[in-house]
Amino acid sequence: MKKFDFIKTTDPYVVGNTGARVDTDAFCAHGQAAVFVALFAHRQSQPDQHERLDAFVPRCVLAELIGAVQAQIRLDEGQEAARAFRAEADAHAQASYTALSEMHTQARDCCEAGFRTHGTEHTCGRNEATQ
Ligand SMILES: [Zn+2]
Repeated sequence: MKKFDFIKTTDPYVVGNTGARVDTDAFCAHGQAAVFVALFAHRQSQPDQHERLDAFVPRCVLAELIGAVQAQIRLDEGQEAARAFRAEADAHAQASYTALSEMHTQARDCCEAGFRTHGTEHTCGRNEATQ
């Protein structure tokens, strides 16, 4: 059975944009690579003070979080709203997969140099390996 607690909201960060990457620098106890999440945000009380919050979230914790959100949508707004949320996530997954596949084909997904030079220069050793 799931456990819940009341968590009071105090001057929360308001997130305007995010980035995420499955990161092999951190692993959870199950041996899965964690997810690096960047949140571009500001405190609700300080809308002009923008910050970037970097976090490692274990993949199992992220799945639990997304599941809890879906459960609340289902309870509050119904099965159809929960289905729409999953469909929206699936559409984003498909669009990201297409874009990531294209970056992989262009050799832009292995290192920052490859990304910034559109695959012509690398700091990951890829040039040495392919020449
Ligand atoms: Zn590279």
